[in-house]
Amino acid sequence: MVRTPDDPQVLLLTSEMFPFSKTGGLADVMGALPVALHRAGVRVAVCTPFYGRLSAGGHEVRLVQERCPVGFPWAPITAEIYRTEYHGVPVYFIGRSEYFDRRYYYNTYSGDYFDNCERFTFFVRASLQWARQMKTAPAVIHAHDWQSALAPAFLHYLRSSDPFWKDTKSVFTIHNLAFQGRFSNRLFEGSGLPTEAWNQEGVEFFGDFNLLKGGIAYADAVTTVSPSYSREILSPKFGCGMEGILSKRRDVLHGILNGADYDVWGPHDDRYLPCSYASDDSSGKIECKKALIRELWLADQLEDRPLLSFIGRLRKQKGIDLLIEILPQLMNKGLGVVVLGEGNLEYEQRLMELVEEYPGTLAVVIGYSEDLAHRIHAASDIFLMPSRYEPCGLTQMYALRFGTPPVATAVGGLIDTIVSYPSPYATGFTFAKPEAKLFLSAINQALRLWNNKASWRSMVRRAMKQAFTWERSAEQYVKLYKSIGMTIESD
Ligand code: ADP
Repeated sequence: MVRTPDDPQVLLLTSEMFPFSKTGGLADVMGALPVALHRAGVRVAVCTPFYGRLSAGGHEVRLVQERCPVGFPWAPITAEIYRTEYHGVPVYFIGRSEYFDRRYYYNTYSGDYFDNCERFTFFVRASLQWARQMKTAPAVIHAHDWQSALAPAFLHYLRSSDPFWKDTKSVFTIHNLAFQGRFSNRLFEGSGLPTEAWNQEGVEFFGDFNLLKGGIAYADAVTTVSPSYSREILSPKFGCGMEGILSKRRDVLHGILNGADYDVWGPHDDRYLPCSYASDDSSGKIECKKALIRELWLADQLEDRPLLSFIGRLRKQKGIDLLIEILPQLMNKGLGVVVLGEGNLEYEQRLMELVEEYPGTLAVVIGYSEDLAHRIHAASDIFLMPSRYEPCGLTQMYALRFGTPPVATAVGGLIDTIVSYPSPYATGFTFAKPEAKLFLSAINQALRLWNNKASWRSMVRRAMKQAFTWERSAEQYVKLYKSIGMTIESD
């Protein structure tokens, strides 16, 4: 038996964690939430896959168990467990090279990896088996998104078969309902769940095996990452087919707004920026803008013109098609636009064609660049976020902190984080529906205000003062953990 000195009260399961792995917002959340919980006095630990592309980020990672038994029904396969510590939080990496040592995390350009169901079922089972070797069971298993969603389901059945788990509760957090981990029913048997889990109140979804549904159906509490999104997903428009089971579980469904990690994202002390700046002095922001204009080979005249930016996945969810639709009209206004993203090939190609049409004023960077994302946030004047739905959204929070008022659709977390013009407290501009016409008119509104320097400055100052801290979010999670039975020893 392996003893760990950590014995967490809350064990978080996630398929991404910044700075070790990242494809999007989930990683940022999981880089910050465990640390905030730790600072709030909760003993937490994280389990996450040991990807081949893992960035150790200067942290010492060591092997702590070579052959952790996983007990898959069809073979006695084992996992390697590695450990590191991140700001005081123990992080366990679950390794098995045939599953995780790949170029990408979930998919290539030609589609999802064929064995994603097996890979992430393995991850969940190995995490639970690893925890099973601890002196005491965690009070809460907190699983995130479809990749970890079977944890509450397994736990539900383990509670009655293994006394070790009898008092452990589970929380399941949905970061994006559209990604569900939906697989053929033939894969259910190999998951190791008992046959009674195969029903409409369990993991079955229109004849398929749906991992996300397992999380929703079995967790003691279900959360999503903003209050507005937690209400939206009860409707067919936003529910992605899960509105039925979510409505049944409405009593345990909570919306807890994500925070932003201002130690990583903030213009006061950002290692990726040419200079820092604060809300009462914008000269640094102007320097950042000049530097980005040079970096991206944009025309010098743009220094005195508004610079608009988009950072994110080039997917329909993010409304990149709406931006593409209005780009010609925008460019004719003599302003600058910068796009950083990757995703759908068709959007990438269309954007590159547009760059040919607007050389010097439109810059498109296809790819993923953490440091460039920081520089774009700092350098631009207006941030564009025409999402069709947005569970929380982090980039608009970063944009606010960098003094770059967002123009965003009034959906999900964008409603909860942006105060829209013309409110006297406005920090940005929202528009009612994801339609090109409305998007353009909201941008026009922003451009008019940009021309009024005094009003623009005061909006920028208000935006920069917004504080969506992780401390606040962590407090709400702790309250939730307590409501389902966890006692905090430091109480
Ligand atoms: P989502 O998780 O839906 O993709 P969020 O706004 O919650 O959207 O978080 C996106 C995160 O991923 C942010 O940290 C953002 O800066 C980052 N990001 C997205 N695309 C890129 C990219 N192409 N290059 C660098 N960072 C990116």
